Amino acid sequence: MIGTNWQKLNLLKGTTLHSILSVDFLFREKERKKERRKVEETMNPSVEDLIRERVYSCHNCRNQISRHDDIISKGFQSVKGRAFLFYEAKNVREGAEENKMLITGNYKVRDLYCNECGQLLGWKYIKAYNVTQKYKEGKVVLEKFKITPASS
Ligand SMILES: [Zn+2]
Repeated sequence: MIGTNWQKLNLLKGTTLHSILSVDFLFREKERKKERRKVEETMNPSVEDLIRERVYSCHNCRNQISRHDDIISKGFQSVKGRAFLFYEAKNVREGAEENKMLITGNYKVRDLYCNECGQLLGWKYIKAYNVTQKYKEGKVVLEKFKITPASS
């Protein structure tokens, strides 16, 4: 009888101790997870920023068009609003060469269309007739409202 009671007591003690340990363990585990999440939240964006490239996509279909690093100037103006000058654009289709009279002079340009959805995005300077505008030759203008910043 006594033996059985002792066993019962020991079993109870064991269970209680085990339960306390479990709760304590779970609590610590939860705290650790919370801590880890906090670290991830503060660390990851900066790490991702380093890995990911900032790009601009077609506003219509999200096709990747240009890289943030390729921006030469954000102070461009088109008839429809603000525009950015880029070194280059990718995933675009070039239209036919045409002469255009723009605010800063006469140019030979090609319109640029998204090669995915066909949306007109801007133009490429083929030739600048004004000597002071020669730096634009081969560069690309994309209209701000036609492109969306994103991460690759
Ligand atoms: Zn598109």
